[in-house]
Formats: sequence, structure tokens, C-alpha cells
Amino acid sequence: MPTTAVDTYALTPEQVDLRDTIRQIVRERVAPRAAEIDAKAEYPWDIRKLFAEQDLLGLPFGEEHGGTGTGTLMLNVAVEEIARACASSALILMLQELGTLPIKLFGSEELKQRFLPRCASGEWSPAFALSEPEAGSDPGGMITSAVRDGDEWIVNGTKNWISNLGIADFYIVFAKTDRSAGRSRGISAFVVEADRPGFSVGKLEHKLGIKGSPTGQPIFEDVRIPAANLIGEEGKGMNVALGTLDHSRLGVAAQAVGIAQGAIDHAVAYANERKQFGQAISEFQGIQFKLADMETRTAAARELLYRACAKIDRHEPDRGKYSAMAKLFASDTAMAVTVDAVQVLGGYGYVSEYPVERYMRDAKITQIYEGTNEIQRLVIARALR
Ligand SMILES: Cc1cc2nc3c(=O)[nH]c(=O)nc-3n(C[C@H](O)[C@H](O)[C@H](O)COP(=O)(O)OP(=O)(O)OC[C@H]3O[C@@H](n4cnc5c(N)ncnc54)[C@H](O)[C@@H]3O)c2cc1C
Repeated sequence: MPTTAVDTYALTPEQVDLRDTIRQIVRERVAPRAAEIDAKAEYPWDIRKLFAEQDLLGLPFGEEHGGTGTGTLMLNVAVEEIARACASSALILMLQELGTLPIKLFGSEELKQRFLPRCASGEWSPAFALSEPEAGSDPGGMITSAVRDGDEWIVNGTKNWISNLGIADFYIVFAKTDRSAGRSRGISAFVVEADRPGFSVGKLEHKLGIKGSPTGQPIFEDVRIPAANLIGEEGKGMNVALGTLDHSRLGVAAQAVGIAQGAIDHAVAYANERKQFGQAISEFQGIQFKLADMETRTAAARELLYRACAKIDRHEPDRGKYSAMAKLFASDTAMAVTVDAVQVLGGYGYVSEYPVERYMRDAKITQIYEGTNEIQRLVIARALR
């Protein structure tokens, strides 16, 4: 049967050109920095500046907000290309989307005008603050609260595991506004600017991977924000969170595909060069089969990712299920492929002289954040009922 227009999700020639341009920028400017970013565990301000100059931080935004208006698929192709060299740098772009989607999807026109153009230009960066020490997979258990006081809200609480901590110019904060409502109801979403009195940067984590992206605890102590900083309707914050994650977890899938492909690049190059028993190890069928499986799984993950992106852009009803499936499959693929890449390099795979151990450490988080893979399975299974 011929493919109908609605089924297609292939890249257009313009998207391929843009992808190739990004690939070149990443090869020349990001890849040489990746090992150092990981070793020093420093936020790469130079890479963020580069992305802003190259208009990459405009990818999550429509033209009406100063962005490129090129859609979810192009955004995630860019995330994939960056993650192929450096997963921490890919997070800069992923977070630019995650921390602005609540405003883009649910915010007032005034909020959109106030925040989105300055993020599209790269001047500002956001953070998305949902998780808490006692509320990860189950955000309904959150303790952070917001109480109305005239034309203001007063926010109190401590969030946990928040990416872009100390970097972000504003935080999307989810807080209980009605304790009498059920666990998941009575939550509202707010924008809290980092320069408001009462906001402080708490503990920063030492992590296994994505070391160039600071993660930790933002603290809110009697932080007063104007009523206009409420995102969407009071009490509907859970819809804001889940609606955002339906889109943004494709960024995690794209990061995972990029990590897997990057690990394959290094494993193939090594296998062609390394000689044992008088021949390149890529001549051994045991290594060939491993590389073939790595490439096949990664290609399959990419197809699922691109289809899910197209579904998001077309607002199709099963987009949430597809984004969960793409995140689940791509992240499990990244983990399996990077473990195999280390094996292909043998002892050299285990040491930091070669990059594949970094890819393996970076891959692990893709199975955990923006909803663990167990939670993705719940989302998918619920959609089957
Ligand atoms: C580096 C990093 C960056 C992060 N960035 C952000 C961020 O920017 N913003 C943000 O809000 N959060 C962020 N997170 C938090 C992340 O989304 C949570 O860690 C994740 O949702 C899991 O929550 P938890 O760690 O509390 O684990 P828990 O919820 O305690 O889960 C522990 C284990 O139990 C399993 N589990 C839980 N419930 C179920 C269930 N119903 N069925 C089956 N298994 C279940 C989980 O899958 C997991 O394996 C980040 C985390 C990390 C590590």
C-alpha cells in the first residue's frame, strides 16, 4: 500500500541540510570538549553560547516567539546529533524545551511574551521543578506548597534532582495549592524567577554521568510571586506536568539514540583498527554480530522516535503512548548498546582514555529521568486498556 501523507515522518531536504550543519558544528566544536566537560563536571557555558549563536536554542520555539518554528522532529534530530558527541551538552537544548513547554502549552499570552523569546534567543535558561525528596515517580506526594495572599502567591518547599540548578533564570515549580483535594489534584504550576528573595540553591549532586549538567535542590522559603505567574488554571498543575512530559520525554529518547550512535561510531572505528591474532577484531564474527545488533537496535529506536515526534507535531491521540514507547525503547537500547561498546573495546573500553565508558555512564540516566522506564511501561499499559 502506498504511504499516505499522514503516515510519513521522513526528514525533508531542508531538515537534512539543517541536521548536517548541526552535525558539523558538533563534530568541530562540541566533540573536542566532551571529555573535559565530563572530567571537570562543569556546566559548559561556552557550548551554551555556541548553541545560542547558531540559533539552536530557538529550535523548541515557534516563530511567533523568536524561535525557528521547525517542530518537534527537527528539535530532537538536533538533540540526537549533540548527544552523539556529548550527552551533557544535549541537555542544554533538552532543558530549554522541558522548562518552557509548560508556558508554551498552558501559559497565558503574557507569560509567553515575557519568557519564551528570551529563552529562544538563549539569553535565559529554565528549569523544571517537579520532583521532591519524597515524591519522584509519585509527584502527588509533593510537600511544596503555594498559598494565595492578595495578588501574590507565597511558595515554600524544597525540590530534588532539578537539572539546571543554579544555572536557570527561572524555575517551573509545581506546588500544592489545595491540601483538601486528592493527592494528584490541588497541584498548581508557577513560574518562579531565580532572583526572587527567598530562593536559594541547595545541595548539588555528584553523579555517575551527565556531569556537565548541574542537578540538585532548589529551595523556596516564603518566595512571593505575582498571581500572573500561575501557569494555566489553579489546581490543574498535574495536567501541566503530564502534558509537558508527553512531549519532552522525546528529548530523552533522542538523547538516548544519540548516545547509542556515538558509542557505535567509536566501537566500529576501534574494531577496524585493533588487531589480535594477526587480524582486525572486526574480522571476528563474534564482534561483527555484536556491532550488527547494536546498529539494528539503534536504527529501530530512531524510527520509533521519529514517528513519535511526528505524532506530537500532528497532535495525534496516541502521541502520549508513542512518546513513552520511544523513551522506553531508546533508553534501554542506549544502555545495552553502550555496554556492548565497552565490551568491543575490551580493557580500553573501561578506561577514560577512550570515550565509550563515558557513553555507558551517560546512558543510564535516560532510563531514569522524566519518568523511569517502569513508569513508561505503566503509561503504555494504561493506553492499552
Ligand atoms: C540526573 C537527574 C536529573 C533529573 N532532573 C530532573 C528535573 O530537571 N526535574 C525534575 O522534576 N526531576 C528531575 N529528576 C528526577 C527524576 O525524574 C526522578 O528521579 C524519577 O522520576 C524517579 O523518581 P525517584 O528518583 O524518586 O525514584 P522512585 O520514584 O523512588 O522510584 C524508585 C524505583 O521504584 C520504581 N517504581 C516507582 N513507582 C513504581 C510503580 N508504580 N511501578 C513500578 N515501579 C515503580 C521506579 O521505577 C524506580 O525503579 C532528575 C533525576 C536525576 C537523577
